[in-house]
Amino acid sequence: MKTTKCRCGKTILLDDDLLTWFEGLNYYCDLNALRVGHVNVATLILNQGESLLPDHIDRNKHNIQRSNLRAATSTQNCQNRSRSSQNESGYKGVRPTKYARNKTVSSYQARIQVDGVSMYLGTFPSAFLAAVAYNWTAIKHFGSFACLNDLTKDAHFIGPTFN
Ligand SMILES: [Zn+2]
Repeated sequence: MKTTKCRCGKTILLDDDLLTWFEGLNYYCDLNALRVGHVNVATLILNQGESLLPDHIDRNKHNIQRSNLRAATSTQNCQNRSRSSQNESGYKGVRPTKYARNKTVSSYQARIQVDGVSMYLGTFPSAFLAAVAYNWTAIKHFGSFACLNDLTKDAHFIGPTFN
């Protein structure tokens, strides 16, 4: 692996054989990707045409190693997005639904978008349990493109940590 500095100041990770090629590109760094004109640099690396969008497996647009790129349809690409910054529950697909008298949250609803349709997954007594429901459903529908909630940081977590 080689590294080079992006115009935004972050570190770009790339395969050894691509360093010279990449440094010769007149690229720019936008919100979602490194681009040459309107073409995503990852598209050039995957050499896949523009009908499929390149997906960064680790969601780091500065990691353009081939091992971190895969071709995805636009639907799969958006399944791999992380939770939005406005999310209050701390988990993707989970939001508080009821508030007790003391203003603390007493229940959480889990929802997931599948093919543009919002599916209701249930109401749960904790954000953690709602996040578990979200993860299971995301795996069922999206397979390896699912962007899962990290459950290991929750005090309720009792399973193995895989890392
Ligand atoms: Zn950058």
